[in-house]
Amino acid sequence: MNCWKACGQDLATQETKGPNGGDRQLKEKDLAEYALDYVTSNGATYADVRLVQIRHEMIEYKNGSPVGILKDLNGGMGIRVIVDGAWGFAANPDFTKDKVERAAKRAVENARAGALIARDPIVMAPIPVVNEKWETRVETDPFRVSLEEKLALLSMCDQTMRKVKGLSFAEGFLDFTEELKFFYSSEGSRIDQKIVHSGGGIQATAIGEDETQVRSYPQSFGGDYVSGGYEHILGMNLPDSAQKIAEEAVGLLVAPQCPEETTTLILGEGQLALQVHESCGHPVELDRALGWEANFAGTSFMTPDRLGKLQYGSGIVNIVSDPTHPGGLGSYGFDDEGTPAKRDEIVRDGLFVGYLMSRETAAGLGRSSNAAMRAEGWSYAPIVRMTNVNLLPQKGTLDDLISETKKGLLMTTNRSWSIDDRRLNFQFGCEIAWEIRNGKIAGFYKNPTYTGITPVFWNKCGRIAGPESWRVWGVPNCGKGQPMQTMRVGHGVSYARFDDVQVGVGYAH
Ligand SMILES: [Zn+2]
Repeated sequence: MNCWKACGQDLATQETKGPNGGDRQLKEKDLAEYALDYVTSNGATYADVRLVQIRHEMIEYKNGSPVGILKDLNGGMGIRVIVDGAWGFAANPDFTKDKVERAAKRAVENARAGALIARDPIVMAPIPVVNEKWETRVETDPFRVSLEEKLALLSMCDQTMRKVKGLSFAEGFLDFTEELKFFYSSEGSRIDQKIVHSGGGIQATAIGEDETQVRSYPQSFGGDYVSGGYEHILGMNLPDSAQKIAEEAVGLLVAPQCPEETTTLILGEGQLALQVHESCGHPVELDRALGWEANFAGTSFMTPDRLGKLQYGSGIVNIVSDPTHPGGLGSYGFDDEGTPAKRDEIVRDGLFVGYLMSRETAAGLGRSSNAAMRAEGWSYAPIVRMTNVNLLPQKGTLDDLISETKKGLLMTTNRSWSIDDRRLNFQFGCEIAWEIRNGKIAGFYKNPTYTGITPVFWNKCGRIAGPESWRVWGVPNCGKGQPMQTMRVGHGVSYARFDDVQVGVGYAH
């Protein structure tokens, strides 16, 4: 067992051997200070130590019974150093002085090895030294809600979905994490954070003779996630949507195929969030744009020579990085190198003006970090990640957007995605496309897809709905890096309308 509480120990205390051989109490926080002292007296010109403990509960429910209940607690320490101008990192799950010292030594050795092949010494943009605490705002602690209550909620959804004739599978998901993070830097920052995430959703699957159709609520791939407590789960009113999505899944089996044509497309909810994620969020990660990170469709067409010049979208397209937004899945007080969260412009009036940046990448551009340096858990070094990358609202409602559309489609729930290495050519598939005819919803199509080229697509954005329907959607499974790290990020969106979009292309059964 490698976690604090699972070992029967309090978070703050750990018994270990003292330097004189006698037993003494040494707190984990003292061990973090010890690691900092060790690396700085062994050549580190900069160091940070992160203590992280993650509690995770996940429940999956399928066709009348729970099929998976996971409860996990893990923790450890990540030590990052600069020695001889190069990065080194080592992680350690054991809170004994010996093990911590061994990890600290390894971090220094890794940096020394890296320095032999490093091109230029690391330079980091300055940040303020802080001593602060930050916590997610939570009304109802999800870990204090009983398993019975959670199962009863999923069971209610399950029963409602399975009453619909023709449905093959009913599924429900709930997922909660609590992350305690303590950050210590050789510059003097000391930061305590407690970040709580709650997510969940339901999914209905209908299987026909040669096809499978799925409807999800409120979005696909496990539901919608926020920073917050159990109040988010109750607020989604999952049982109220169970019958509707089950009927739609069955209805899709006999629905017409999405036509292949160029038309007006309205996107919203989880699909617009994913559109922002793939075609704006990833390409503005500055490590990709600089060519430092190329895994997972890794490079970017949004290179620094295009900063301030590229007309990324139409004049109503404004995109910001905002980890300060309350409740977003990418919300926090400080990133994983201690930079205070801040809102920063990425696209202003359609013009590409900013990146997601770490201290090091920001220094390369002569800018300041915008707190986008994040690590999964304690065992990975942080890399540049999304925060909440938000498409700002304009005005009007979804009904306005629909009523102004003579002919077009509305898509809101993702089913598949594909985008090239430079984040230029993309294709998305959705669960359902609502047909719009003469300003009204007239029916629905199955297997809808749409395709485009990022700046062409965003320059055809003619309308964005207002703040009434704007909210931050959670993407809990963003993969990046090698070894891969999974990160939780958010995207604030309302609804947006795009002209001349190619739809219905490339669907394969
Ligand atoms: Zn991603």
